[in-house]
Amino acid sequence: MDRRAFLTLATAGAAALALPPGALARTSPPALERLDIHPSRVIRTVAGLRPFRASGYVVRAERFSRRQTLVHHYGHGGAGVTMSWGTAAETVRVLESATRERTCAVIGCGVIGLTTALMLIRRGHDVTLYADALPPYTTSNIAGAYWGIASLYRREAASPEFIERMRAAAHYAHRAFQHYAGDPRYGVYWVRAFELYHRPPANSHGAPDMAHLYPGFERRTGPDAWWRHAGVDSFHQLMIDPNIYLRALKADFERAGGRIRMARFENPRELSRLRERVIVNCTGMGARALFGDEELEPNRGQLTLLLPQAGIDYAYTTSFEGASLYMFPRRGAIVLGGSHGRGDWSLDIDPAEQDRILRGHAELARRMAAG
Ligand SMILES: Cc1cc2nc3c(=O)[nH]c(=O)nc-3n(C[C@H](O)[C@H](O)[C@H](O)COP(=O)(O)OP(=O)(O)OC[C@H]3O[C@@H](n4cnc5c(N)ncnc54)[C@H](O)[C@@H]3O)c2cc1C
Repeated sequence: MDRRAFLTLATAGAAALALPPGALARTSPPALERLDIHPSRVIRTVAGLRPFRASGYVVRAERFSRRQTLVHHYGHGGAGVTMSWGTAAETVRVLESATRERTCAVIGCGVIGLTTALMLIRRGHDVTLYADALPPYTTSNIAGAYWGIASLYRREAASPEFIERMRAAAHYAHRAFQHYAGDPRYGVYWVRAFELYHRPPANSHGAPDMAHLYPGFERRTGPDAWWRHAGVDSFHQLMIDPNIYLRALKADFERAGGRIRMARFENPRELSRLRERVIVNCTGMGARALFGDEELEPNRGQLTLLLPQAGIDYAYTTSFEGASLYMFPRRGAIVLGGSHGRGDWSLDIDPAEQDRILRGHAELARRMAAG
């Protein structure tokens, strides 16, 4: 899903409830701390591969061997952290209706594997988690991780049935993250967020049930929009610091009696040798090689991290030079991102993309300071 489609979906519900353009009292833009983009503030640049499937993520059970059931749970694109609790709940439902077996091997220790494993153990299953990389060395640690349904699927390729499941999972996940918000042990917190448009934003496409996922939503367009943009949506949103959060999930899982084993599986036959009767595939991008899912493709992202800056307590998404741009504040860093490379497997840092991101944010900081 491109940024436009994401924004349409993300804010559609809220927009349906928003006042018509011009109906909001004209207000000056909020006085926000100016982001300092000086190159001396760059800590590092990282790249990761979002596990993208045009028709959407997979949650499905199948008979694996005479004694085992295989449950797939992967393919969350740019919204794996966002959707994690919702699709884990869906996975547990599918698993429990496919088999009565209670010994589970969860393969994968990113946000999807950890959340699924934790949910299973809390429901009384006996769970061992196997993975060849643990936090902080997973793609999930690279994530932004802003709560938003971005690059999760392509509208033309997804079925109406998937969209319904996805909506239900998004609601569940948003509610679940609210339980962690404000608790420093989990690194989940609310931020004031802005979506900035260079062209007038599309009107509601009818998803009124999504509105409460964007508390305080207001849309300003035309002369009422701020910072010389054609439209500005403002609302509040959840942010998750993946390094803190994944460490906490792993600790919760182990405290609940879960076991973690380092292991790499080259093919399904190796998985079938596991003693567990239920295998849950949470291998993210790894599912392509392991199970031959050719629809699963990388959507490469690159982030530049800046030193933390006092007063930067807001997030935004916008675009610059035809590609997206976003800024998310964390306690330990400021995350600058916006790159999407579909089909690109490279984890090398692209200096031209880093330059675009830094210039784009510097330009926006100037506009925001000018009011
Ligand atoms: C730059 C960037 C920004 C992002 N921003 C956001 C955001 O703002 N919000 C958001 O919600 N999401 C965001 N994402 C997306 C998010 O990171 C992914 O959707 C999510 O990490 C997928 O989680 P996962 O657990 O499926 O995969 P992973 O984190 O990749 O975990 C997969 C696990 O499976 C294991 N594994 C794989 N293959 C094998 C094998 N053969 N044998 C053994 N173990 C195996 C791995 O070792 C690992 O433990 C972003 C991603 C990137 C790259």
